[in-house]
Amino acid sequence: MIPQNPHYKRIATEEGWMTPELMKMYLHILENKTIHDPGFFNLWGFFAQNSSPRAKDLFARIQDLGERRLSDMDATGIDMQLLMLTAPGVQVFEKNIAVDLARSTNDQLAQTIKAHPTRFCGLAAIAPQDPESAAKEMERAVHHLGLKGALINSHTQGEYLDDEKFWAIFEAAEALDVPIYIHPNSPSPQMVEPYLSRCLDAAICGFAAETSLHVLRLIVSGVFDRFPKLKIVLGHLGEGLPYWHYRIDFMHAGIVRSNRSEGVKPLKKKPSEYLRENFWYTSSGMAWEPAITFAQKIMGMDRVLYAMDYPYQYVEEEVLAMDQLPLTLEEKKMFFQTNAQKLFRLE
Ligand code: CA
Repeated sequence: MIPQNPHYKRIATEEGWMTPELMKMYLHILENKTIHDPGFFNLWGFFAQNSSPRAKDLFARIQDLGERRLSDMDATGIDMQLLMLTAPGVQVFEKNIAVDLARSTNDQLAQTIKAHPTRFCGLAAIAPQDPESAAKEMERAVHHLGLKGALINSHTQGEYLDDEKFWAIFEAAEALDVPIYIHPNSPSPQMVEPYLSRCLDAAICGFAAETSLHVLRLIVSGVFDRFPKLKIVLGHLGEGLPYWHYRIDFMHAGIVRSNRSEGVKPLKKKPSEYLRENFWYTSSGMAWEPAITFAQKIMGMDRVLYAMDYPYQYVEEEVLAMDQLPLTLEEKKMFFQTNAQKLFRLE
């Protein structure tokens, strides 16, 4: 049992949940093979159908928005969770189903938050399959449900948001001045094959490869020149990107100079400048001091936020290790509390 910290609230900012209804729909996909998405089958074939303690434990925890989750938070000294619909959310479904499911899921999330307003806050699920509806749902969720932004679980059926047909979503997020959290998904069907036979497709590696690819596609496409105030949040300390700033800038400049690709046009800034100015990173699943302090050094102390990645990585010792980071008390308060309060405009 870890007590609350007397100096700061611990706000965990990438915490997964799902409805029993959605779990049933995933099971239906698994049993009837209604989609082509090998990463989905490897991930949810385990967590929804396997009988190992790890799978059964996650199956129960992720669907609970009541006593069990609250007691898990109490046991680890977590004051508040920012909830987001776990990957791949509604993004594997046919357009109309996904749009309806995003709405009903957001309504349920809002009810949960209303019941426990000091313990939960959340991001809206949206269906990129229908960008106009997704933009409207984001607006409804922010203005009428009190949600703090939107969640997108990386690729949608193999498509990435750098395609301009999706940009109504960015336009809405910028106008509402709320962040979009780009959470990992299993690598897209066109990417996943070499990961599968060694089970590298999910959180061990494939998630970060898929999500960092997605982010770089966005940057190179010029999304942030079109929407300069767009705020994007990444988990897992930026999915490896902080380590790559120098090389990405160097190589991108060379590709632009030599006019090497139709898909790469000059940008107003260096790629790393967008990464510093339009992005925030959470520490989900990365409770490791060298990586956290490196991300803080690259991004600035005000752009790295605490996250646990409940229930996938529910580990008490990690919370205590984070309390021991070599930071001043004020910096720890930023990491655990105030950065999240500012970015997500929490009361
Ligand atoms: Ca997660």
